[in-house]
Amino acid sequence: MTKNKQRIFADLLIPGAGEPLADWAVIITDGLIEWVGPQADAPTITGEDLHVPVLMPGMWDCHTHFTGMQTPALAAAIDVPVPVAAARSVADAQRAINAGFTSIREVGGFGVYLARVINEGNAIGPHVYAAGDLISPTGGHADLHNYSLGCVADLAQRDGWLHTCDGVTGALRAVRLQLRKNAKLIKICASGGTLTEYDDPMHQQFSDIEICTMVEEAARAERIVAAHCHGKAGIMAALRNGVKTIEHGTFLDEEAADAMLEAGAILVTTRSVKIRNMDYAKQHGLPDYAWKKLLMTADRHQEAVSLAIQKGVTIAAGTDTLTSGDDTPLRWGEHALELKLLVDDGMTPLQAIESATATAPLTLGPQAPKAGQIKVGWDADLCAVSKNPITDIKVLLKTSNITHVWKTGTLLKQPS
Ligand SMILES: [Zn+2]
Repeated sequence: MTKNKQRIFADLLIPGAGEPLADWAVIITDGLIEWVGPQADAPTITGEDLHVPVLMPGMWDCHTHFTGMQTPALAAAIDVPVPVAAARSVADAQRAINAGFTSIREVGGFGVYLARVINEGNAIGPHVYAAGDLISPTGGHADLHNYSLGCVADLAQRDGWLHTCDGVTGALRAVRLQLRKNAKLIKICASGGTLTEYDDPMHQQFSDIEICTMVEEAARAERIVAAHCHGKAGIMAALRNGVKTIEHGTFLDEEAADAMLEAGAILVTTRSVKIRNMDYAKQHGLPDYAWKKLLMTADRHQEAVSLAIQKGVTIAAGTDTLTSGDDTPLRWGEHALELKLLVDDGMTPLQAIESATATAPLTLGPQAPKAGQIKVGWDADLCAVSKNPITDIKVLLKTSNITHVWKTGTLLKQPS
């Protein structure tokens, strides 16, 4: 790991927000971007120059889970001992860096702990902004419906990440327990899920008063609330109670898109999880209940995301990466798939890159760092790419095309 003053010359600089710039340069010092401008005007420095074809901000995946699970079946959360899950997650964090992703928003999982280990310098990984537990009502998307209540509660007590709560008092305590773990945002379920057995993705989860209670408690600690939402009822309930990021948004329609625009809310798309779970289901057989719910939501999700793009809803890229290891269905390191799918759904490649760079920190609300853009004074989180992703977004999917990755000015990946 090297951290010093560096001048980087790029044939093409993609700033995150705004148009790409030909023949620009960046100087980084002490973890920050010190200078940006045309190569001809670059101040001289002592130290080595680097020349790269394309330089862009380090990317963000705004919807992930460090779980250490090797299958997407949620019951695995109870089977994998926490130390095993934690050790696996360390390797997953490195996979994100290798793919050019320098920041991870984690919406339920072991990210709160992993962030600490990475910040201490004991593991190599991205900045991790984590929510702590996934919070739902009893019988909701964070419950394991075929296990005893005591078993589920015990899991939550033992540093698990599935958490149920009910009523105003329960909702307050659930948020406070996450703040106690240094969560940077709060993640709730405002609708049923596809991977849980008995809940219906079309139904609202949590009453309005429960959602409002959690949003207000989070706001007192300057935290944003992210809501898992498939059905429209959940999307609308989340929005009218102050939730600022809608995760998945599967049944978003014109009215819901207008409500998002009015609320200034962000859609975190997670198109990847549908595509990858469909593939996995065909090869390995997801449980029947999950397969049925997947069929019900998959096509509709594409329509919803296309509509949101047309309507100009603010969109941040998130994959719902969930499983650990290279041979698992929702694996770490494939985060750029979401950008390709956003282009399939109607974005330009530049817009897709913006959704994973300049827009992404906004999903942290008051906790947003100065990152995701190549601007003076902002974090030197950068990646160099060997080919131009503006002409073909799929360039970003191949990790060998990501030649260099800097996190806070520290070079974490370079050609061997
Ligand atoms: Zn998720």
